[in-house]
Amino acid sequence: MSAHVMDGTAVAAQLVEQVTVGTTEFARAHGRTPCLATVLVGDDPASHTYVRMKRNRTAMVGMESRYVELAASTTTGELVAEITTLSDDPGVDGILLQHPVPDHVDERAAFEAIAPIKDVDGVTMHSFAAMAFNEPGFHSCTPGGILRLLDAYDVALSGKHAVVIGRSPILGKPVGMLLLARDATVTYCHSRTLDLADHIRRADIVVAAVGRPELIRGEWIKPGAVVVDAGYNPGNVGDVEYEAAAERASLITPVLGGVGPMTIAVLLEQTLTAAYELTHRVRRT
Ligand code: NAP
Repeated sequence: MSAHVMDGTAVAAQLVEQVTVGTTEFARAHGRTPCLATVLVGDDPASHTYVRMKRNRTAMVGMESRYVELAASTTTGELVAEITTLSDDPGVDGILLQHPVPDHVDERAAFEAIAPIKDVDGVTMHSFAAMAFNEPGFHSCTPGGILRLLDAYDVALSGKHAVVIGRSPILGKPVGMLLLARDATVTYCHSRTLDLADHIRRADIVVAAVGRPELIRGEWIKPGAVVVDAGYNPGNVGDVEYEAAAERASLITPVLGGVGPMTIAVLLEQTLTAAYELTHRVRRT
C-alpha cells in the first residue's frame, strides 16, 4: 500500500479563505478589524520565526496584528502585567503567548493571565476544561487543526483505536481528548510507556506529538492506518519514519505542509470567533 498524502496546506488555505471573507464582513458590520496580539519573550530564533509567520498570516487575512516583544530577562510579574493589559484592552480580540518562555518564567501563570474570551490559542485551564467537558470554547490550535484535517479527509473516528504519542498540555493531551469526544478509543503513550511498538501496531489512527526524529518506525504502522505526524525536528524530519510508514498507511501527513498550516488557520479562525463574541458581550453589557 502507498499512502495518500493529507495536504494540510490545501485544507488550511480553504479555511484561511473563509476567515478572510469573514474578517471583511466583520469589519464592514462593526467598523473595526479583529486584532490578534502576539507576545514573545526572549531570543529563541525558532520562536521568532513562528511569531513572524503568525503575524504575516494575520495581516494576510486582513486582521490587525499587535506585537509585544519582551526581553529574555522579563519576570513572571512583568509578563503577567503585560498580558493582563491586553486582556483588559477592548481593541484586542485574541492573545497568543509564544511557547516556550524562558525557564525562569512561570508559563502557567502567564497563560492564566489571558482572558478566556481572548484565549484563541486554547492554552488556559478554562479552555482545557471546556474542551474536556465538551463545552463551547477555544481549542488548542494544533489539536483543533488535526481534527479539521482528519475531517477534511473523511477519516471515520467513532470506534477506531487512536494511539497518541505525547501528552503535553498543548498537543498530545488535548488531541486525545478531542478524539475521545468523537468516540475514538484512545491510548496515550509517553516517555515511560513500555512496548511503544506494540501499542502503535494496534492503532487505526496514529498521532505523533513527541519531538524525537523518526521515533516511530514505519514497520510498526498497521496496514491501512491513518498517520498524523505533528512532530517537527531540525532538518525537516518528523516523529514518524515517513517513507516506510507511507508504504503501510492509507493516509499520512507530510512533515512540511501537514499539521503546521492547520495550526495557524485554526488560530485565525478562533480570533475571528473571539472578535464576534467580544462584540456581542459588549452589546449585552
Ligand atoms: P513536549 O511538551 O516536549 O512533549 C513531548 C511529549 O513526548 C511528552 O509527553 C513526552 O513524554 C513524550 N515523549 C518524549 N520522549 C518519548 C519517547 N521516547 N516515547 C514516547 N513519548 C515520548 O512537546 P510538544 O510541545 O507537545 O511538541 C511535540 C512535537 O510537536 C514537537 O516536535 C513540536 O515541535 C511539534 N509541534 C508542532 C506544532 C505544529 O503546529 N505543527 C505545534 C506544536 C508542537 P513525557 O510526558 O513522559 O515527558
